Amino acid sequence: MEILARWAGCAYCDGPAEELDHVLPIARGGRDVAANVVAACRDCNASKYTHTLACWAITGGHAPCVCDS
Ligand SMILES: [Zn+2]
Ligand SMILES: [Zn+2]
Repeated sequence: MEILARWAGCAYCDGPAEELDHVLPIARGGRDVAANVVAACRDCNASKYTHTLACWAITGGHAPCVCDS
């Protein structure tokens, strides 16, 4: 995917740009537009999953999820 080539690495850590992540997940109303898409490594993308950035920053993707609080 050429959009990944615009990224030097994962937006969240020092890992490689392996996958595209929606900053606000589609499942939570995020839109599939460039402004909402960043590159992420597999580990970050997997742990962020459908959490909001704020929730992920607090919980690291582990329960208890605070996306809806
Ligand atoms: Zn990462
Ligand atoms: Zn969450």
